[in-house]
Amino acid sequence: MDLYELIGVPRDAALDEIKRAYRRLARRYHPDINPGDRAAAVRFRVVADAYAILADPERRRQYDAFGLTATVFEGAGTFGFEGFDFSVESANGPTASTFGDLFADVIHETVGRGAEMGTDGADLHASLSLGFEDAVRGTEKAIALVRRDTCGGCAGAGVVPVAETTCPACRGAGTIRSRRGHMVFAKPCERCAGTGRQRHERCAACAGAGVVPCSQAVPLLIPAGVADGDRLRVAGLGHAGSRGGRAGDLYVTVHVGTHPLFRREGDDLHVTVPIGIHEAGLGARFEIPAFDGPARLRVPPGTQTGQRVRLHERGVPSRRDGRRGDLVVEFRIVLPAVLDERSKALLRGFGAINVEDVRAEWRRDAPRA
Ligand SMILES: [Zn+2]
Ligand SMILES: [Zn+2]
Repeated sequence: MDLYELIGVPRDAALDEIKRAYRRLARRYHPDINPGDRAAAVRFRVVADAYAILADPERRRQYDAFGLTATVFEGAGTFGFEGFDFSVESANGPTASTFGDLFADVIHETVGRGAEMGTDGADLHASLSLGFEDAVRGTEKAIALVRRDTCGGCAGAGVVPVAETTCPACRGAGTIRSRRGHMVFAKPCERCAGTGRQRHERCAACAGAGVVPCSQAVPLLIPAGVADGDRLRVAGLGHAGSRGGRAGDLYVTVHVGTHPLFRREGDDLHVTVPIGIHEAGLGARFEIPAFDGPARLRVPPGTQTGQRVRLHERGVPSRRDGRRGDLVVEFRIVLPAVLDERSKALLRGFGAINVEDVRAEWRRDAPRA
């Protein structure tokens, strides 16, 4: 509410003029003259408090400069009336409140909020699909994000400086008025922060938000050893904060694909390697390709299908301490198709020499006939 308008005097009115106007209103709304009229009682208190402010040179100066801030009520900050239930009851009887008292709770509520403070950006969540190999080795991947970035037009301030003019929103009053019932409510003009002057203009590029939505391809460094379901945090790559607020963080949940040969168990890699029947029987040495260079394998003589060797620290780098897991190789004997007569003869000869029953041990535990 505008106190001058409330009293019915121009803004440059002298103290005498304000006094006369106040007395006229006080007589009109005085409870003794309007017995039982609660609206008049409230009006009377409002006029009395408005007069108390305008009749005090220091408080009037404060009001002229900053509007109805709580400083005017010996507090600090501004207040708004949204949702405030103006109780007529409280203005009557021995518990009758003053204008300041009536709005004290509303004043306090908005003081702490700090209207000029920036807003921190929210965290941003995204997901990323990775190949098995990229996850083991680590890679750099660009991830497409739609995030709120700091506005380039105002560097995140939400306003841009302009030549000083009268605030067009409140026409210089510093307050915005609205009517509810018998009461005229006022709140400080947000556009000019109650000053009535406009030194800044809302940034057109971001409509005052200080941030603008943008789609970006953000390069991400994927550490070696990242596992399916891991969540990577990238500090500051969430939504940008507005008007000086700090940026949120980006959280990327990683989905790792499968590999046709290798699989992961924790930080260990498992792979099944086929070996020939002669390699199984006689033993062999050969290399297999692995993710960190070729791995030298030794097949012990007499190796069976399912037998394993463990190559220490040839697995996946641990995300905890960077130490590699192991590479676990399982052998599987693969018999080629025996088609030629010479191979058949060799195998018949092999059987004739090795007459021991390969199922003897098996038969011991078999069900009795
Ligand atoms: Zn204004
Ligand atoms: Zn802007």
